Amino acid sequence: AKQSGRGNVCFFAPSMDREVRARRQMEHDLRLAVQRHQTFLAYQPMVASASGEIVGYEALLRWRHPELGEVPPEVFIPVAEESGSIVQLGEWVLTAACHEAAGWAEPLTVAVNVSPVQFQLPNLAAIVEGCLRRSGLAPHRLQIEVTEAALMRDPEAVRSIFRQLKALGVGIVMDDFGTGYSSLNSLQSFPFDKIKIDKSFIGALEGDEAARSVVKAIVGLGRSLNLAVVAEGIETEAQWRLVVEEGCPEAQGYLFGFPEVSRLTPELPPAAAAA
Ligand code: C2E
Ligand code: CA
Ligand code: CA
Ligand code: CA
Repeated sequence: AKQSGRGNVCFFAPSMDREVRARRQMEHDLRLAVQRHQTFLAYQPMVASASGEIVGYEALLRWRHPELGEVPPEVFIPVAEESGSIVQLGEWVLTAACHEAAGWAEPLTVAVNVSPVQFQLPNLAAIVEGCLRRSGLAPHRLQIEVTEAALMRDPEAVRSIFRQLKALGVGIVMDDFGTGYSSLNSLQSFPFDKIKIDKSFIGALEGDEAARSVVKAIVGLGRSLNLAVVAEGIETEAQWRLVVEEGCPEAQGYLFGFPEVSRLTPELPPAAAAA
């Protein structure tokens, strides 16, 4: 503990101090990551379950830090969300994903993760529209992945953004389905096009009857609500077989492909990269 001001004791252990400093440094570095060209997108295929044929890709943000190396999204996304830099990072992701996908040889879909923090922006749909227009990507090829957390803070504002996105022709996907507080309620009150069965259920599929029942129920739910359903986190042939047996139309996971830099597209023009 060190003295600060008029005898106030500050209960920061030296190690805590170091953590706070590292965190501040990361917040600072994140704000500069795009203009320093440290960010890039990795794309993971999504396949039609029955055939294994690729139907689209999910864009996943990567950050290569000069000293820390590749920082996992699980580490830097929360920092970017709390410090607000996710707004600028997220815009870069949308710009880059639309630009890259527009250059693909085949008109496959591209799914982009959008943070709950971005859903607090009243102009989110206008940002998406701008990315579509500048890239020339057909709107129906873009899917926006959101978690339930995005819906909670201001449901009316988010509903309005959903309506605007749908009017553009963009698809909306509920990510990590089944892990939130009221997934069923959310499905009923927001116009989703697709649900992604969380990988925790898929990981438990082999030998776990309960997980299998959950997957079966979600697939049935998708069918009756007319929603596309994806099973994420497929790592084994056995998991693949089980989701096919349950009639889940789409699948994603290391079994079909790891997230990789797209080799199908030209480099981003510097102007777009710095946007
Ligand atoms: P997510 O959206 O649920 O993405 C799926 C994560 O699971 C990815 O991790 C992916 O690499 C990983 N994954 C794919 N297949 C498998 C599999 O078969 N087994 C296992 N165990 N994992 C698999 P990643 O790329 O590390 O991203 C982690 C999370 O970070 C994402 O989870 C998403 O919430 C967030 N994230 C990534 N990129 C972005 C972005 O551009 N914007 C925002 N807001 N969040 C992002
Ligand atoms: Ca996702
Ligand atoms: Ca997910
Ligand atoms: Ca997740």
